[in-house]
Formats: sequence, C-alpha cells, structure tokens
Amino acid sequence: MLTTLRRIVQEVNSAKDLSTALNIIVAQVRETMGTEVCSVYLFEPGSGRYVLMATKGLNQDAVGRVSLASNEGLVGHVGNREEPVNLEDAAAHPKYRYFAETGEERFASFLGVPILHHRRVMGVLVVQQKERRQFDESEESFLVTMSAQLAGVIAHAEATGSIRGLGWGGEAVQDTRFVAVPGAPGVAIGQAVVVLPPADLGSVPDKPVADLDAELALLQRALEAVRQDMQTLSRRLSSQLRPEELALFDVYQMMLDDSALGSEISAGIRSGQWAQGALRDVVNAHVNRFEMMDDPYLRERASDVKDLGRRILAYLQEAGKRELVFPENTILVSEELSPVMLGEVPKEKLVGLVSVLGSGSSHVAILARAMGIPTVMGAVDLPYTRVDGMELIVDGNHGEVYSNPSPELRRHYYDLVREERELIQGLEKLNEAPCVTLDGHRMPLWVNTGLLADVARSLDRGAEGVGLYRTEVPFMIQDRFPSEKEQQATYRGQLEAFHPLPVTMRSLDIGGDKALTYFPIKEDNPFLGWRGIRVTLDHPEIFLVQTRAMLKASEGLNNLRIMLPMISSVYEVEEALHLIHRAYSEVCDEGVKVHMPPVGVMIEVPAAVYQARELVQMVDFLSVGTNDLTQYLLAVDRNNPRVADLYHSLHPAVLQALVKIASACRIAGKPMSVCGEMAGDPAAAVLLMAMGCDVLSMNATNLPKVKWLLRQIRLSDAKALLDEVIELDNPYLVQSTLHLALRNMGLGKVLTQTR
Ligand code: PEP
Ligand code: MG
Repeated sequence: MLTTLRRIVQEVNSAKDLSTALNIIVAQVRETMGTEVCSVYLFEPGSGRYVLMATKGLNQDAVGRVSLASNEGLVGHVGNREEPVNLEDAAAHPKYRYFAETGEERFASFLGVPILHHRRVMGVLVVQQKERRQFDESEESFLVTMSAQLAGVIAHAEATGSIRGLGWGGEAVQDTRFVAVPGAPGVAIGQAVVVLPPADLGSVPDKPVADLDAELALLQRALEAVRQDMQTLSRRLSSQLRPEELALFDVYQMMLDDSALGSEISAGIRSGQWAQGALRDVVNAHVNRFEMMDDPYLRERASDVKDLGRRILAYLQEAGKRELVFPENTILVSEELSPVMLGEVPKEKLVGLVSVLGSGSSHVAILARAMGIPTVMGAVDLPYTRVDGMELIVDGNHGEVYSNPSPELRRHYYDLVREERELIQGLEKLNEAPCVTLDGHRMPLWVNTGLLADVARSLDRGAEGVGLYRTEVPFMIQDRFPSEKEQQATYRGQLEAFHPLPVTMRSLDIGGDKALTYFPIKEDNPFLGWRGIRVTLDHPEIFLVQTRAMLKASEGLNNLRIMLPMISSVYEVEEALHLIHRAYSEVCDEGVKVHMPPVGVMIEVPAAVYQARELVQMVDFLSVGTNDLTQYLLAVDRNNPRVADLYHSLHPAVLQALVKIASACRIAGKPMSVCGEMAGDPAAAVLLMAMGCDVLSMNATNLPKVKWLLRQIRLSDAKALLDEVIELDNPYLVQSTLHLALRNMGLGKVLTQTR
C-alpha cells in the first residue's frame, strides 16, 4: 500500500496543474481501491459550495457543473463533520441528495473523507461502489492518507491562483496573506521584482573539452567578471555598511580565488570536462556537502556557493549580467535572498525584502535590520516565481506578505508607512526629549545592535544605551574566529560610538540557528542543544579571549556591561563569573586600567524564570530575552512559519513569567531590562513599563514609536491596564483589550498586531 501511495504522490507532484493532479488522483485511487467511482469536490470559499472538480465513474459532463451547498448532501455532511463518512447504503442516509446529472443512482456504498489543510476544509474525496458494502479499515485509512497528500497540492494551487487574484470559480480574491517570519521590522508597499537565478546549473549537459587552453581562458574571464561584479556591488553598499561588515563579500572573493573554486574548476577542465560542466560538478559537490550538514547556517553557505556558481555560469554562457529594471518602491523577492542581491538595487528604490528560504538570523536579515529595510523571511508558501511586477505588502513586524490588497488593507498599510515616516521626521524634536510619562516616570529606551552600521541609526533615534550587542554577528561574517585584537577593535568601535552611554555586550550566543561556518554544530534539536553559554563554558578559551577583548576595549571608557545568554542553572553563572574575574585579573596584570563591568544574566528559558530570585542575587542585572523565552515557554519554534500563529509574546504565560521576574528584581533591588522584540512593540512596552522594567531595549526602527506612546501615557494608567489584562486567559483577548484601551486614549496610531 505504501509503495502504491508513494507512486501516486510522485505522479501527482509532477503534474503540471491542479486539474491534471486531480485527474491522476481519481484515476489512480479508483484503480487501487477497485471501486467504480472516485471523485473530488473542492470547496469554493467565494460561493460557499462544494464543486465537483474531477471524477472517474460519474458523468464527465457533471464536472465543474454540479455543486452542493456547504450543508447539502453527503459531501457537505463530510465537510461539516470534518471526518470520514462510511456508508453501506448511501441513499438511506437522511443527508443523501440525488443529482441526476452525475448518474450516481447506481451506486450504493459511499466513503467520503475531508481534505483538510491547516484546519481548513478544502474539499472532499469520495469513492463509491454499486455493491452494498462497508469499506474496511485499511481502505478508509488509504483514502485518508491520500486526502492528506492532496491537501498540500490543493493549497499550493490555491495560493498560485490567489496570487493572480483568482479563486476557484474565477471570482476575485483579495488580501491573500502568506505567513512567514519577521526578518527586519517595518512595513512597505511596493512592486515585486523577482530575482531569479541568472543561469540554471542543473540544465548544464556534459560535454568534452575541445580546446583546453581556450576553455581555461574562458573560465578565467568569467571568474574575473564575477569578481568585478562583486566589487561593484560591495562598493554600492559601502555607504551603508562599514568596511568590516563588507567582509561578507570577502567570503565570495575568497571562494572565487584561484586556490578555491577556481582551481577545482580548472582541474575539472583539465580532466576533460568543458568549463560549464566542470563548474556544475564543483558547485554541486560543495552544495551537497553543505546541505548534508543539516545546519541552517551551513545551508546558507550552500546558497552562497550556488549563487556564485550561477553568476559564473551566466558569464560562461555569455549571457553576462542581466539588467533588471527597478521601479520606485521595489520589493525584492527571491527564493534565497543573498546579501549581494541587496547591492543590486539602487538604495533609494529598495523598500522591502522577501525571501522564501532563511530565517531572522540569516545574513541578509542582519544586513536588512542594519539598513532599516522591512524584511520577511521564510515565506515558504509564496509562489514567488509568479509575483514579479505585482503589488505586495511586506509586514516585517509580523513576518507577513500580502498580495492583491483590498483598498482598505492598502489604506491601512499606507497609513502605517506614512506614520512611520512622520514619526521619524518629527524625531528631531523627540530625539533629544527623554522618554518620560505624563506623570513623570522616566523610562530609558536602549537599542539592540550587531553591526557597526546599526550605530548611526540608533544614535539618530535617540537611543540611551545598548541593551544587547549581539557579538555573534561579527563572528558570523568572518570565516575564522576573530583574534583577541580583532575583537578588541570591533568592540571598541561600539563602546566609543555610544560613549558615555552604556553598551551591554552579550557573550557569544551561537548554536540554535546561529552557527559559524568554521565551527559547525550538528544536532537533531539545535534549540534544545549546545547553545549560548553552554558552548562558551565548554570552550573557556573562546569565552576568555572574548571577555578579555571586551575589557581591553573598554579602557578609558568604562561603559561596558557583560551579559550571559541561555542561562538555565546557577552553576553556569558561577562558572561564567569565575571566568570573567579571571579574564579581569589577567587584563589588569597586563597593565590595562579598567573597572570590573556590571554583569547580567539573560532570562530566556523557563528554568531561569523559576530561579530568577537566585540568579539575580549573583549578578548586577537581569535582562529578559523574550524572543527565546516565548519560544521555550510556548514550545513554538520562533523560525517556523507553520507555527507562527502560535507564537505570541502577549500570551498570559509569558506575561506571568515577566511579572515573576520583575518581582524578583524588585525584591533584590536590581534592575530588570527586556531586550527581545517585545520591548519594541509599543503596546507591549506599556505593559513592561507597568511591570517595573527599568530598561527597554529594541531595534532602532521601533524606538521612536515606543517613545512617542510612552510620552503620552501615565504610569498609573499603564498599571491599571496591566492589572486588567493580567487577569485574562487568552493571548488574543490580551491583545484586543490592550489595543482597545490604548485606542480609546487616542494612542492607536502606533499599534501593530503583536505576535
Ligand atoms: C531573545 O531571545 O529575546 C534575544 C534578545 O536574543 P536573540 O534574539 O539574539 O536570541
Ligand atoms: Mg535569545
């Protein structure tokens, strides 16, 4: 049975369109089950009816013509119940409805199963037989399995249709939403420009080399041309990124080097393969190796190699560079956006980014955050090849893309874009103004940084410190561990730029979805594995070098704070403190004059919430990483678009945890900060302030909105709101109550739906 199923699924997946896929299914299922009829009815949301879309056994003329209301007939009955209906004598069932057009009066037995996708009934799959009999269990489970496979195919076809604004029956559909994950905050409306791979390595045939020298020369010219392109692109980005950050492009240059890909391809040519074939083999070998590593970061390396391979191929095929035309308000869409692609669009025209693959930790998302471009990652259901030239809405706050926006939705997002622009323009006034509530409560707003490019935007927007400097970012854009001296220089850059404001440097937080090419970590459950402090305590040499570099960098500035990620036990803090003190005395022995910096613990896992009282005794402050805390409390992968709707930082469990941490800090008389994305959500910030948070640290994009809102509210009102929502038992209710109250206070303009 399993083999048959696999065969059918394979055939269905390679069908060119939905109608072919449905015809394959009805024919194959009828044959495999030995029934007289197999039919598929699809639910058409516009009309609310089930339409007969394919059949083997009923009259073909009825296809597309016969339809049933959602509560009509046995088909409607299956859809309503959302479970199989197995009848020996269909006509005897009260829900039975006879259609003369189909000729189904001859069939007695009926087995119908719903086709469900993400809880939605998409249709019903039916088999019928003349003979009166009950279908047995194995037949029922076969049909259920078949329908589960069918659901994915239909959902894909539906997404493809709706991208063109068409539902099943040809009716117009609007506001089609594709759920993904946030890459960089902000919203944008614009015209999609799809960047397709410039050339297809997969279709390169084998061919013997005719003239060895000519082929080698051809390769050299292609490599040189790509090298030039890379330099041009890197130069274009150089006004927005610092030289150190452009090091990302060095990785590409190095791959192109004669001793790397270049020499391997030449060797392939020398062994008799033409340049294109040799390139294909070398790229495939590297891609397979990286992809097998099963690690998201290394898979990204695979995409870098693929990207380079396609660019070289384009030159080998003499296609050269494709000149894309970029409209004003370009939204760049690609299966796998690479940092290099950002450089291809003139800066003033690029308003948004959508990548089908990748997560919030991908390089391109890190760059987009530094450049302030709203970005959505992991839009796996978006039929991206079909959206070129279409109007899209990119919601980087929630990780959503919309196509065919209705006038209302368009207006809503235009308002958001305008408000964002106005807030930034009005910021010159707000920039200097402190974040103080109407009743005089001072709420310090800090920023999260990673690249040096983040600094200017942060200071422009009136940041009062850095609550989280993600030190893994400079590690990720290198191809080896940076030395103590290199780290010292990078950290000095951050500390100097913000001086005298405090800068909180987090010790290296790799693992999970953040890995280093030169330090691969392969695990089945990376988010529950070797992550954050667990890695650095197992490698004290990494921890010590980093801490020494931080301490030395702070000489004469003394605005450093150190923070420990992924703490789940007190002994991890003890060990880390021991290492920090050791690094401190080593640095002092070297004659460096620094103060011992404040040290804090990040609360990111449930265990740390329950031990917040003990943890806070050991350090100078606690900082809540709500991104991970939400992920671990709710057991929802923060990078998985399939469960994105379950990821909710306003979940009562998250709020209760935050209240508990705040209380531990208050009792200990130590400051609590929040540095997850939640702190940058204006409505959530109101609650965090009311809980007694001492610092909110967020991305620079959201800082003006949070400041604007907190300056228009009283702490006493915020506390009353917290008292009200903390009693609620459901995240949606929390959000709607909070938003309604803020709207009633006239503060609705900066609210976004939090997840
Ligand atoms: C967090 O988990 O909330 C956090 C700030 O850290 P990161 O997003 O880097 O994991
Ligand atoms: Mg974290």
